[in-house]
Amino acid sequence: MRSSRIVAIGAGQAAASLAARLRTIGHEGPITLIGDEADIPYERPPLSKGYLLGARDRTRLHLRAEAFYTERDIVVLTATKVTAIDRAARTVATAGGSVPYDHLVLCTGAHARRLPAAIGGALSNVFVLRSLADVDAMASSFVEGARILIVGAGFIGLEAAASGRKAGMQVTVIEAEDRILKRAVGPDTAAEIRALHASHGVEILERARLQAIEADQHGRAVRVRLEGGAEIPVDVVLVGIGVVPATELAAAAGLALDNGIAVDDRGRTSDPHVWSAGDCASFPWRGRRIRLESVQNAVEQAERVADNIMGADKPYDPVPWFWSDQFDVKLQIAGLSQGATRVVRRQSGTALSFWSYDGDRLLAVDALNDGRGYMIGRRVLEKGGSIDPEQVGDPTVDLRKLAGI
Ligand SMILES: Cc1cc2nc3c(=O)[nH]c(=O)nc-3n(C[C@H](O)[C@H](O)[C@H](O)COP(=O)(O)OP(=O)(O)OC[C@H]3O[C@@H](n4cnc5c(N)ncnc54)[C@H](O)[C@@H]3O)c2cc1C
Repeated sequence: MRSSRIVAIGAGQAAASLAARLRTIGHEGPITLIGDEADIPYERPPLSKGYLLGARDRTRLHLRAEAFYTERDIVVLTATKVTAIDRAARTVATAGGSVPYDHLVLCTGAHARRLPAAIGGALSNVFVLRSLADVDAMASSFVEGARILIVGAGFIGLEAAASGRKAGMQVTVIEAEDRILKRAVGPDTAAEIRALHASHGVEILERARLQAIEADQHGRAVRVRLEGGAEIPVDVVLVGIGVVPATELAAAAGLALDNGIAVDDRGRTSDPHVWSAGDCASFPWRGRRIRLESVQNAVEQAERVADNIMGADKPYDPVPWFWSDQFDVKLQIAGLSQGATRVVRRQSGTALSFWSYDGDRLLAVDALNDGRGYMIGRRVLEKGGSIDPEQVGDPTVDLRKLAGI
């Protein structure tokens, strides 16, 4: 186990966490991370915020300096795409040759979903936002006065909308659903975020379905046509309509898939020598199968895989948490609110939180500029407890005492 050859496909958040953990817990064999991007592992959250606005320099995005890997004898191959997995031979193929493994970890992340080229998705000023290269490609379009249309009001679209306003752009967001953030948060939290954007001059159009992006004779998007006939003039379009888990290699290798690469609670795929973690992996969680797209999940699931490769045999059973920064609001979410039958609002000064319950059982807390409420909610969820829904909304009640922590 200690001397086994470990190869990770993808050199992002999950792969970096895997490698660091393996060395921390005493793995001594070769570790190779193979990533198709130009950079060593970096963090994506600043891409839609500081980096997009030019406020952070590229190397500060790197999760660890290059020396971290060399000092620990972790090989990071950048700009190297894995093209196939040979499970019988236990090798992966790259243009430079094949790399053998004893344990393979698929950390391939997710691809930004694009609009079809037939409706303008491939025009030169129509972008997606997933990688450093994506941001570098669009940065020169992010200029004061330019009109940006953002397709999709999920976290990425809304964070980019906030950055656009900070850059002095005219920002319109179109959302096909009847409200923003439908996949991610309940209606109360979404209403607060919507009001925040409106107060900063972002125009949000719900139930607005894009029909086509129209181009000028140079192949540049100039207008977006909506179903129903409305037309919106644009200088740049950003498509933020979610991601697709990167499962191509796993599929070609015959591994089980289920909304991503299907792993068990140890992080193992249908092949005992192949593991998976991060955005690409779906795992069993409290009676259902979920796939999370968050830094926390990439880090913790990859660390659990590292532990299990080394023989820990421990399940991965996270309390999911997530954050999003938009304008001056930090939204922090602990738990998953899907299935909530009741939501209680708590406001204390500028700190605001929404507590989602199924009956009396706490499912999630969404906290807006309320770090204390978030931490208490998260601790309660981690302990498997609840917090009285009758009292949580009363700002005069001490949350910590109420939670018994
Ligand atoms: C703009 C943006 C903002 C975000 N903000 C937040 C936030 O505020 N909070 C939060 O919790 N999360 C946020 N996230 C999500 C978070 O960054 C991801 O959940 C996390 O990066 C997932 O890590 P990962 O290692 O699974 O995938 P990734 O970080 O995507 O890494 C996967 C890597 O694998 C590479 N790869 C894929 N296939 C191959 C192949 N065949 N060969 C070689 N390499 C391959 C990919 O190119 C990529 O580099 C944000 C994401 C984005 C894009």
